[in-house]
Amino acid sequence: METVKPGKLVIISGPSGAGKSTVLKQVLVNSALPLELSVSATTRQPRPGETDGVDYRFLSEKEFFRRRENDEFLEWKEVFSCGDYYGTLTKSVAAGLTAGKWVVLEIDVEGAMTVLERHPDAITIFLHPGSDEELERRLRDRGTETEESITRRLDVARREMAYLDKYKHEVVNNTVDQAVEDICKILTSGE
Ligand code: 5GP
Repeated sequence: METVKPGKLVIISGPSGAGKSTVLKQVLVNSALPLELSVSATTRQPRPGETDGVDYRFLSEKEFFRRRENDEFLEWKEVFSCGDYYGTLTKSVAAGLTAGKWVVLEIDVEGAMTVLERHPDAITIFLHPGSDEELERRLRDRGTETEESITRRLDVARREMAYLDKYKHEVVNNTVDQAVEDICKILTSGE
């Protein structure tokens, strides 16, 4: 029987609004590696255009807590202090790795630190927009956030930047194409 080489874990973090989702979608298309984006669970409401099971598993708080009690999360976190929970389901990560996939987690910095304790060999990438002003501009351009949400996300973003040196790789998202190319190169190097 042919044995499948186990996959690798890739963690990408960066301030909300840094363009992670856009860049990652393109990396998945461009890279020749067997990448698989892990779909996180969340209790936040879907944004327009988001699909359950594709962008996130949108769960009720009751269901999220039930799964947490059941120890189904590799890590979980209340990402913004307004009652929204996010978590990585152990099952989907383990299944992907066993099948030889390179499982990509797009998670916040604290969740990343928890995962690193269990997977110290993970490839870690911190993607950010370069400056505070640029981050604010992008959050506003998205047009989906309330003023309160923008202020909160900017505050969290500043705190997240403090984790930059805990990541093996830093990518500045000046242009999507450049960021995609940088991330593909990092992944190909395998570290
Ligand atoms: P958004 O609400 O903009 O989709 O995501 C907000 C933040 O939650 C982002 O910084 C994203 O990286 C983080 N996030 C998404 N999924 C998870 C997860 O499963 N675990 C953790 N810890 N953070 C997550």
